[in-house]
Amino acid sequence: MTVSSTDGAAHDDTCRDACLADLGAGRATVWLREPAAVPLVRADIARSAISEAEARLARFAPVLARLFPDGAWNGHIASPLLRYDTPPAEIGRLLVKADHRLPLTGTIKARGGVYEVLCFVEAVARKEGLLVAGETYDIIGTRAARRAFGAYRVGVASTGNLGLSVGMVASRFGFATEIHMSRDAKAWKKNALREMGVTVVEHDCDYARTVGIARRSFERAGKAHFIDDERSRALFVGYAVGAAELAHQLSQAAIAISAEQPLIVYLPCGVGGAPGGITFGLKSIFGRNVACVFVEPVASACMLAAIAFGEGRALPVYKLGLDNRTIADGLATPVASELALAQIGPDIDALAAVPDAAMMQWLSHAWSEAAMRLEPSAAAGFAAITPVAEALRARPVSRGPLARFDDAVHVVWTTGGSLLRDDEFMGYLSYKLNSDLTECATHAKPAKRP
Ligand SMILES: *Cc1c(COP(=O)(O)O)cnc(C)c1O
Repeated sequence: MTVSSTDGAAHDDTCRDACLADLGAGRATVWLREPAAVPLVRADIARSAISEAEARLARFAPVLARLFPDGAWNGHIASPLLRYDTPPAEIGRLLVKADHRLPLTGTIKARGGVYEVLCFVEAVARKEGLLVAGETYDIIGTRAARRAFGAYRVGVASTGNLGLSVGMVASRFGFATEIHMSRDAKAWKKNALREMGVTVVEHDCDYARTVGIARRSFERAGKAHFIDDERSRALFVGYAVGAAELAHQLSQAAIAISAEQPLIVYLPCGVGGAPGGITFGLKSIFGRNVACVFVEPVASACMLAAIAFGEGRALPVYKLGLDNRTIADGLATPVASELALAQIGPDIDALAAVPDAAMMQWLSHAWSEAAMRLEPSAAAGFAAITPVAEALRARPVSRGPLARFDDAVHVVWTTGGSLLRDDEFMGYLSYKLNSDLTECATHAKPAKRP
């Protein structure tokens, strides 16, 4: 089912009803934006913020390499761009931006989450007189610095991965670290954090409520920093660095992006911070020659709810009759980020809600065909390609990258999974499609294998 709109607000009611029916039945649903003739990227975040973030990450690389000695890791948080040789039949060539292989936690949260921790490290180090202009950052990893940082609290709310990334890095710097986990979080992530000496606070509620409770517990706290997944600019900018990295890798591979050969990127979306930051970065770099497709589980389609049904404002998925219960724990968020909506909401080119079964099929394909170890969230991008192609056939857009779907360079962003434990990953591989999922599975069925 496709819903198209010029401005995200004006739908005829039959369209809305059909879309709701599809979501309610757990079927893949695609929303396409007719490319509007308005300036791109209305974000009020300066584009120079991305290069500042790159510079900050470079300053910290030697510190991270020392704090997390791991083979030959140089402390740079970067991931490879890979070729995927067996794409769905609708497209000829597919690339994978392999953030599932990022250092530290093997998830995209190693970009935004870690970046915001580093911003706080820098601020505290200056305040405590540890960093003097012109000096290197060598002092930051020392015992004296750890003692100074120990007087400060760092906190975050998470469905698992953000907490793992922030907890791992903030605690290693010496901060008193407090991670608030929603009921979606996996036990092994909580245990791993506790073993690092991190305080884990468990909440038996959804992610939106968990963020609210955690945020309030940090209000008016001195010597503390709460990383706010729904409001933070530093997080957003940390993710945007991934866009600059992709641009560099495409140019290294001599893949030119133009109006004739545009870029289409499939981004797994939870609250929208990670795909939002990347969209901000990509649109800053490629302008109108890139289309960003946000991909969500049907049950947690909060960005779709906001854009197609909430006139651009956050709308809990429960209002659409969805229950936020998905196997993709990284995307199990019932409400989209207001910051992401305000910064890049109008720049999202398409939204795809995909059934859990389709993500799980792709998790399995990516393993058997390309030896990629993905978590369910990270397979979402693959699962969106066929439904988007079908939607475009049913209701073509007039111009822009999506109008050139056949000539485009397609990139799926795989957002996590390389560090999944074997037992967890094997459990995913043996996931069985149950009967009430078969209907949606046909709708989003991956192409026949060659
Ligand atoms: C957090 C996460 C995302 C999405 O990030 P949001 O900022 O919540 O949109 C995607 N994939 C994985 C694996 C994640 O952990």
